[in-house]
Amino acid sequence: MEEFSACGVEVIFINHTSGDTPEEMMLLQIQGMFAEYERGKIMERNRRGKLHGARCGNVGVLSGAPYGYRYIRRQSDGTPAQYIVNLHEASVVREIFSWAGIEHLSLGGVVRRLAEKGIESATGNPVWDRSTIWGMLKNPAYKGLAVFGKTKNCAPRPRVRAARNSADILKNGYSVIRNKPDDGIVIPVPAIINSALFLTVNEQLEENRRHARQGRRGAAYLLQGLTVCGHCRYAYYGKKVSKSAAKGGAQYTYYHCTGTDAYRFGGIRVCDNKQVRTSMLDETVWTQVVALLSEPERLKKEYEQRLTQVSEHSGQTADAERLKKQENQLNVGRSRLIDSFAEGLIDKTDFEPRIRVMTLRLAELERQRAKVEQATESQRDLLLLVNRVEDFAAAVTERLSTDDFLMKREILRALVKRIEIYRDEIVVVFRVNPGNDTSLETGSDKTSGRSLPDCLRSKSPCFSKLRT
Ligand SMILES: [Zn+2]
Repeated sequence: MEEFSACGVEVIFINHTSGDTPEEMMLLQIQGMFAEYERGKIMERNRRGKLHGARCGNVGVLSGAPYGYRYIRRQSDGTPAQYIVNLHEASVVREIFSWAGIEHLSLGGVVRRLAEKGIESATGNPVWDRSTIWGMLKNPAYKGLAVFGKTKNCAPRPRVRAARNSADILKNGYSVIRNKPDDGIVIPVPAIINSALFLTVNEQLEENRRHARQGRRGAAYLLQGLTVCGHCRYAYYGKKVSKSAAKGGAQYTYYHCTGTDAYRFGGIRVCDNKQVRTSMLDETVWTQVVALLSEPERLKKEYEQRLTQVSEHSGQTADAERLKKQENQLNVGRSRLIDSFAEGLIDKTDFEPRIRVMTLRLAELERQRAKVEQATESQRDLLLLVNRVEDFAAAVTERLSTDDFLMKREILRALVKRIEIYRDEIVVVFRVNPGNDTSLETGSDKTSGRSLPDCLRSKSPCFSKLRT
């Protein structure tokens, strides 16, 4: 409620009127307390009920049915919820398993064959997603044993770069991880494939994972995981040019927008951004990072600029002390007024307008004070930040001349939040607050309209070379 009123939002209740008298405020707070308690109880009961249902083998506790089944809700006559095999989808599931387990097709191979046969995914997409196939091949429901509790929530895990179209801060405030296979509660459902095939497929998947190229190759690209397309927001990924296509036979590599790969999107590319030579982008970004770190003074100056911006922005001519004093005086006056009303010294017609004015004035003062305090706080944060930048710069300066790939990568990941690649420019967004979760972005903050000078934009020479 306080947060709402601080933002100038009025809360209107539909089922009862709310007022400003102490009694009504107290009632509201008590109601809020009970509602919170009730919410906690409901969640707890819900959790226990689901656990009990799972132990009794009730499929109703599972969230819907996977591809191949149809979920029938609990009927009003008491028939419990159940999975019913969808014959068409089940035959697709059987084919997928046999391709993976008997013909040893890779996930990509399965996707291609499904597309060749014109089989659409559950959502009607002509091209299946590899991760969907992987999830299906791992799902024990198909061998007749659905599992409740395959995943669990945990504390948010750090991410190098936020996923496409998602906020930097996790919406739910938690990450979902897979439980150990034995931790879940098994619920019997009709089987679509036999358990021997399921075992074969899963051994195959495990084998593939061991031999995955990623594992052998390790981190191959300096900016891997940091680059993102400025136009379609898909990631840029490192890609080798095949020997036959390479001019002059020399091996070289590009960063390449995921959105420009037609095969990932059913044959139609969703983006036409250019690819960038890895050597050129690596060097451009690295030069900028070195420049930034070798001149902590410049960074400091820019932060000071931002600092003044912050104080100008909030327009605080008044200081928090004075506001606090005024507020106290007003509070005293208000309680005196209430007292005199209670003692019958003034009548209602006199009391009501006066208390309303005072309450309004008090709210206004509180708002102003909160604003001032917020401004001072962000100033303090910025000062801390400036000092940390200097420390960090001092710590890595002697290592900046390094040629060690992993060292470079580590420094880049600590400093750079992401690299946005546009058609004719590159924007390096710095993290600057190493080791802190609430990384203060120093990049151009488009949403709030502040454009800050320390977000380095470069009209990189590699683009003019690329353009033909
Ligand atoms: Zn793109």
